[in-house]
Amino acid sequence: MNAEAKARGPVYIVGAGPGDEGLIAVRGLEALRRAEVVVYDYLANPRLLDCCSEACERVYVGKTAGRHSLPQEDINRLLVERARRGQIVVRLKGGDPFVFGRGGEEALELAEAGIRFVIVPGITAALAAAAYAGIPLTHRRLASTAVLITGHEDPEKGESEVDWQRLAVGAGTLAVYMGVKNLRQITARILAAGRPAATPAALVRWGTLNRQETLTGTLDSLADLAEARGFGPPAVLIVGEVVGLRERLRWFDTRPLFGRRILVTRSRSQASELSLGLRELGADVAELPTLAIAPLADLSGLARAIERIGSFSWVVFTSVNGVEIFFTRLGEMGLDARSLAGVRVAAMGPQTAAFLKSHGVRADLVPERFTSEAVVEAFAARQKSYRGERFLFPGSEIAREVLPEGLERLGAEVVRLPVYSNRAPAYSAGELDELFEPVPELVAFTSSSTVSHLVQILRASGREGLLPGIQGACIGPVTAATARELGLAVRVESGTHTIPGLIQAIEEHFRERQST
Ligand code: SAH
Repeated sequence: MNAEAKARGPVYIVGAGPGDEGLIAVRGLEALRRAEVVVYDYLANPRLLDCCSEACERVYVGKTAGRHSLPQEDINRLLVERARRGQIVVRLKGGDPFVFGRGGEEALELAEAGIRFVIVPGITAALAAAAYAGIPLTHRRLASTAVLITGHEDPEKGESEVDWQRLAVGAGTLAVYMGVKNLRQITARILAAGRPAATPAALVRWGTLNRQETLTGTLDSLADLAEARGFGPPAVLIVGEVVGLRERLRWFDTRPLFGRRILVTRSRSQASELSLGLRELGADVAELPTLAIAPLADLSGLARAIERIGSFSWVVFTSVNGVEIFFTRLGEMGLDARSLAGVRVAAMGPQTAAFLKSHGVRADLVPERFTSEAVVEAFAARQKSYRGERFLFPGSEIAREVLPEGLERLGAEVVRLPVYSNRAPAYSAGELDELFEPVPELVAFTSSSTVSHLVQILRASGREGLLPGIQGACIGPVTAATARELGLAVRVESGTHTIPGLIQAIEEHFRERQST
């Protein structure tokens, strides 16, 4: 067999962008979706891996606590070997793969081995951090050139690759990567080359993420300021007159929830709306899914109910999950939304209603408030008695009884039909420690079970010590009452039982704290 036939590929060397997962190129995302193996490191946002297939193997080669990253030769060997097996390999690297990322070395190794590769560029840290700090790297009056420099090597060493003397005065804006450790020597070097002491300078750490930190000063003060603040990597140093524009161009770190650390506790599939909303306002959101929702193995009861669906006056959907399982079963039985002709449908909450609509069913009743009590009231307001009417109630194994019992008091016959289970997933103590370090300023709860499951999860892994420190943000009175019952502090309680309502309440909470 000749080398041609043996070599495979292509290997996709993909720039993950600087941090925010929205800043990857579409082409990179496509590669990730198709990948069978992803080899990624410390600065690539791990949330990007959520778009990989379940079966895709994820190989982390970055540094972990106390341990060094996988040596470069081993990474190179891994890429070659997996490509030869015929797997679709994505090498995901922070920022741009060809800017201080050793992507060049990896590509050379592949070229050497006769393996084809594709390079997908990424937004490199200096560009991104500058943009998100409100610093234009070039400006018609202030800087006509910008240079990217590595600060990794010791500028004191004799044979420095970086010609600081010429760059410091020859270029408009200097952007220094990996320069935090040597910051004092680097700024001293630039000063010694003749750049004025009062030149504005900034360090931008974790650029584009909601935990971005920016420190500004001047060439002669920045090292002291950074030391006093204990400012650590990863950060880009930006030196030049353009840094002065930040005062007027700040936009990212002025949003209402910027840097606020909030832990979101819903099921993974449902967390996105809340997390997205909070992130858009600048919050540093971590997710701890507390609900693992799964359709029950035995759904024969649902099949029987569907066969007799005409005998029900109402079907009450309390969640998106119920709708999904109902319609999946309906489809499996060769039926569709027309089966519901003549049956009225209630949806608890706008998401449930919207999901129903996407299945072609417009809900007859969507109560304005979504607690069980409010739904009962909405039914009572519509009609005094439901005597002789049958209600189908597909829901969770552990559904609260308030709603069915309230309907029964109105005369209805309620058929409770558990269709999914709702359990607390297991976490290791280490995983929990990571989520609680630094301690979140708020923990958001969107139902009573998110509260009780979190307590269960912390106890199960011996982390009940974290409970007294939890500051709850609860979606309404019932969830808040559960939190209080379980001994948690409730700091935020939204009046409306909706995700936008909770987000607004959280925003108000921090606004008040700021003004007092
Ligand atoms: N290939 C990467 C750079 C890798 S070198 C790129 O193109 O961005 C690692 C250095 O990049 C860090 O020491 C830091 O200087 C910089 N860096 C990476 N991500 C960063 C971020 N989100 N904010 C600030 N600096 C970052």
